[in-house]
Amino acid sequence: MLWFPGPASATGEDVAEFHVHGSRAVLAAMTQALRRLGLRLAEPGEFTRRAFLNGKLDLLQAEAIADLAAAETEAQRRQALRQLDGELGGLYRGWSDRLTRTLAHLEAAIDFPDEDLPSEIEDRILGETEVLITEVERHLADGHRGERLRDGIMVAIIGPPNAGKSSLLNRIARRDAVITSPVAGTTRDIVEVAVDLQGYPVILADTAGLRDSDDVVEQEGLRRALRRAEEAEIRLFVFDAQRPEEARGAAAWPGSNTILVANKVDLSRSPEAAGKAVMPGHDPGIHGDAHLCKGVDAHGTSPWAEGPRDQPGHDEGGTQGRVLPISALTGEGIDALLSALGERVAHTYRIEAPVLTRARHRQALEESVSSLRRALGAALPELRAEDLRLALRSLGRITGTVDVEDLLDVIFRDFCIGK
Ligand code: GDP
Repeated sequence: MLWFPGPASATGEDVAEFHVHGSRAVLAAMTQALRRLGLRLAEPGEFTRRAFLNGKLDLLQAEAIADLAAAETEAQRRQALRQLDGELGGLYRGWSDRLTRTLAHLEAAIDFPDEDLPSEIEDRILGETEVLITEVERHLADGHRGERLRDGIMVAIIGPPNAGKSSLLNRIARRDAVITSPVAGTTRDIVEVAVDLQGYPVILADTAGLRDSDDVVEQEGLRRALRRAEEAEIRLFVFDAQRPEEARGAAAWPGSNTILVANKVDLSRSPEAAGKAVMPGHDPGIHGDAHLCKGVDAHGTSPWAEGPRDQPGHDEGGTQGRVLPISALTGEGIDALLSALGERVAHTYRIEAPVLTRARHRQALEESVSSLRRALGAALPELRAEDLRLALRSLGRITGTVDVEDLLDVIFRDFCIGK
């Protein structure tokens, strides 16, 4: 038995740890003996909750423990550890401290008897508030990377029917997650497979093959496929290398986040020829190529052409303009495709600065920014002080320094027992 006297224990309370043999009979006898002493099993997350209530952890660190317990990939584990280290909490507390100081200045100035605020104090308060807004907004404009890393990075497999999208997904997942069939339009809904790509959690979604259809079910599939393709971080546009004209549909998804994949190269003698047939000279401008877009419009048959066209055209990962030749049937080119995809994911999600990891944090920060903005426009110093107080409250709610009672149940109920 190990004895950890409080307050130096993990929860801050006295903790006794029994190390026993793990057989059912031993555990049952042990639990029964402890029950007779009036003890009970811990609720899910109870240890972490007690640690939080005893000031051993802030709320962000408590959440990080839950994330760590749920981490499935290396990148998720690293992100949770950084949060557990208190990096994110440090950032938010820094903002809270500065805001507290600004508020203290304002309140001191308000207490000046019968006078208007000295203008240099007013200017300083406004200046500090503006700087804070800029910093929080910059932090918010992170492309949801932390949240996506927690939840899984969405990759949509899109393209015309029968291009081999389901076969590709199966090949990647190395199991029969999706039924493939030679009949066009089989995949009517979206099928997802979670894979670990170089330590990053990726959710691959096979979407319904895109073509005009009178079938109601298929139309619904198309609608969902389009929505998923729009929401996805990265799109794999798969087409049949034997029908290079189908690659034109990719023009509807410009930007470096669409990777072109020529499938079924086993059917042609030269895999290289397949790529070149679509893009003479590997023209890096394919995604924005007016001629290609026109081609799609002229045919007027590809619903992909209705996709968003205003995405940024940068090419940081170097995949734009390249066609990756593969065969979902033989497995040829799949490794190259996965490493290109892995590089793109790693490029986007390699996180240096602390990033926010939950919608809860985002919401509180957004509330904080809008209070700060209101403070800037406030007509009276007293109203400005009230808005600054509200902004401070929102920040405090993230780390758990204020007003969190109602949040605790929500946060700790997702824990597993023993944490
Ligand atoms: P989807 O509609 O895009 O999901 O296409 P499927 O994955 O259902 O594939 C359509 C047909 O093409 C099926 O008969 C597959 O067996 C076939 N197919 C898929 N990939 C390949 C490939 O790499 N080579 C060959 N020869 N056939 C393939």
